[in-house]
Amino acid sequence: MSIDINRYKCGYCGTCVGVCPKGALDLIETWVEADESNCIACGICERVCPVGAIGVMK
Ligand code: SF4
Ligand code: SF4
Repeated sequence: MSIDINRYKCGYCGTCVGVCPKGALDLIETWVEADESNCIACGICERVCPVGAIGVMK
């Protein structure tokens, strides 16, 4: 699976980081780091992102 984060859309609010049940997302200064090996493709981050900056593909 892959997590696609649009760096131009992302406002670094951290919402996706807080909701990920696997702790696969991390906000490092102005960069959202995705650990795809932990991602279970639940799609929660995609649904909560206020600006539609995340796409999750299985
Ligand atoms: S799809 Fe689910 S497990 Fe994967 S990064 Fe998003 S919230 Fe975390
Ligand atoms: S929820 Fe969306 S805007 Fe907020 S940090 Fe995550 S990807 Fe960026």
